[in-house]
Amino acid sequence: MAFIRHEPEGEAIPLVLDSPHSGDTYPDDFDHAPARAIVRRAEDTHVATLWRAAPAHGATLLEARFPRAYIDPNRSLSDIDPELLADTWPEPLEPTRKTRQGIGLVWRVARGGTPMYARKLTSAEIAARIDRYWRPYHAELDTMLDAHRRRFGAVWHINCHSMPAVGDALSDDPGRERADFVLGDRDGTTCEPGFTQLVTDTLRHFGYAVAVNDPYKGVEIVRKHGRPAENRHSLQVEIKRTLYMDEQTLQQNAGFARLEADLARLTATIAGFIRDRLHSLPPIR
Ligand SMILES: [Zn+2]
Repeated sequence: MAFIRHEPEGEAIPLVLDSPHSGDTYPDDFDHAPARAIVRRAEDTHVATLWRAAPAHGATLLEARFPRAYIDPNRSLSDIDPELLADTWPEPLEPTRKTRQGIGLVWRVARGGTPMYARKLTSAEIAARIDRYWRPYHAELDTMLDAHRRRFGAVWHINCHSMPAVGDALSDDPGRERADFVLGDRDGTTCEPGFTQLVTDTLRHFGYAVAVNDPYKGVEIVRKHGRPAENRHSLQVEIKRTLYMDEQTLQQNAGFARLEADLARLTATIAGFIRDRLHSLPPIR
């Protein structure tokens, strides 16, 4: 199964969270060259667990099961590195900066820069990953957002991630220490500005350092699903991993419980914001 859906407990509100990169079920045909412990550093380990209180506030949480290094739902289908392929991709490719960094739709390198594969992949292998994981994940997220928007007139979406504490060679900010949280709305294009502001202000009030659109603006998921003109509001939230885990062993650290509690408080604040916003929307039909 590509994903798990965590349904709201009690009354649903139009708040959807998705955790696309915390999956740790490794398919048998991954065939990666580096040790699993190295490959796993690509994961946003524990992110779905950090947000597990969200359904108690009426939110729905979509959790990817598959590892993002195998196929990355936060990349577009044309963001494929031709260098990976033993044959020719049947459609035109538009590799982005992510692919040039080795972390496109299918990662060419593991964290630290070692090659992910000892061989070339066939187009059929990549197409199978897209059909089994990428498409079902996006279809489910789209269905969830659309159903909430039709029922309530609007939907708010948090795209949940975590990031290394310091930019590495695969990133745009090598060697730079990150803020505790980096929010991305692709420069104000994927959600209403008030939503980004609410999350920024709430986290700062909790004592966290928050950056907006620096160095992460949000990638394919918020770009594809966030349409504020249609009252679909998507915001990417990146959490610095050292707040909650050891980046080498991937084990939760002493900060995990506090962060989890703060994300529950943030979710409660967002739920209040959404209830207020729904009152100010024109009536549906
Ligand atoms: Zn991520």
